[in-house]
Amino acid sequence: MNKIEHIGIAVKNLSNSIDIYQRVLNADCYKTERVASENVNTAFFRTGENKIELLEATSPDSPIAKFLEKKGEGIHHVAFLVDDILEEMERLRNEGFVLLNESPKKGADNKMVCFIHPKETNGVLIELCQEIKWR
Ligand code: ZN
Repeated sequence: MNKIEHIGIAVKNLSNSIDIYQRVLNADCYKTERVASENVNTAFFRTGENKIELLEATSPDSPIAKFLEKKGEGIHHVAFLVDDILEEMERLRNEGFVLLNESPKKGADNKMVCFIHPKETNGVLIELCQEIKWR
């Protein structure tokens, strides 16, 4: 894996949290995006090479709603950038990790994404993400 691409933070109220993180990071949110497949609204900040993603649930069956119920607000996942997500998924399967989705799905911020089951990774939800290249 290449580097940490972003850290995902689960929040109850996106607009309140955008205001908080704009003040914390002294940077403007550069993008908000609804991800229908995950039932979330997201907001992104750049901090040097890395990004912060805020995630708010858009429905009670959203993974973020379930996370907030169980654990409250806080760090939800760590995302690593990969060159070839299919190859990386295959490698992780061969290492015995359980992936939460069988094939990559469309994530926020122009990425294909896949998650590793947090049971296998010390309770940390890890996201793989690959930039979608338009040809
Ligand atoms: Zn993410």
